[in-house]
Amino acid sequence: MRNQSLSSFLPALIGTLVGLILYASVGWWGFLLIFPYIGGCITVGILVSSRFQGAKKDIGRRIAILAISPIFLVFLGLLQRENLQLEETIFYGAFFLSSGIFTRVLIHYAVAKVCGPLIWGRGFCGWACWTAAFLEWLPINENVSIPQKYTMLRYPVLLLSILVPLIFIWTGYDYVRHQIDPAHGKEGQLIWFLVGNGIYYLAAVILAFVFRKKRAFCKILCPVSLVMKPASSLARIRKRPTHNKCISCNKCNEMCPMDVDVMGAISFGKAVTSTECISCGQCSNVCPVGAVK
Ligand code: SF4
Ligand code: SF4
Ligand code: SF4
Repeated sequence: MRNQSLSSFLPALIGTLVGLILYASVGWWGFLLIFPYIGGCITVGILVSSRFQGAKKDIGRRIAILAISPIFLVFLGLLQRENLQLEETIFYGAFFLSSGIFTRVLIHYAVAKVCGPLIWGRGFCGWACWTAAFLEWLPINENVSIPQKYTMLRYPVLLLSILVPLIFIWTGYDYVRHQIDPAHGKEGQLIWFLVGNGIYYLAAVILAFVFRKKRAFCKILCPVSLVMKPASSLARIRKRPTHNKCISCNKCNEMCPMDVDVMGAISFGKAVTSTECISCGQCSNVCPVGAVK
């Protein structure tokens, strides 16, 4: 129990270390706020969860993801005018290729969407995504599985998310300058932040109610989920079987917000390797015999 309490503080510790390393490397004070805050929220979430049993344990994670969202939406989005959406990252990727300057948006992608998933898989999706932060609190009790055919829609959306910024870059140099240049107040970024996130939220809420699943958007439309899959397939931290025997009750599958076949892996004594897993921990929370850790 004492070990478990101590490990709860790991996210805060890691967040603080990452913040210090990035501050020392890049020299921007914001890193000292962002990463320790995110790590601290996750630690608080884990501590809150430890006071509950079963499915109710999820409340800690839902509080954490909601508390983290203002860092992305208010501090970075509105105050710093940094839009961290995928489409914006394409602009900055092109900027990096032409100027060699590695901006904060790219640092976010590198940490949360590419390098981080090598260790903790899609933990960003489960614990820090500002889109999912609000979906988690929608008044929807069902968790209906999304048919496979709908999940393929993410691929054309990803293509669109890459092509649209590229078309802007090819056809409108002045627009790109307004996007990325602080001398222009980064006004293009603010507009893109408001419009882009508005579209994501609207689509996400509609899909959640239509499909009776809070994270329907993650399964059907979100292009970022595909970006994270390759690194997530190599993740070190996964849901694994314990020494307790699975009784094939199917509760984990019923509760999984991402339709992962947890029972299919755990009942055969195998780790969950699906790149759809967002490390929410709900399968462990609801398992009646403690067969998943
Ligand atoms: S799949 Fe997309 S919307 Fe869902 S949590 Fe991940 S990044 Fe956020
Ligand atoms: S497999 Fe478990 S940890 Fe992963 S998304 Fe499903 S319920 Fe969450
Ligand atoms: S892992 Fe646990 S919740 Fe899932 S089927 Fe086995 S016993 Fe049931």
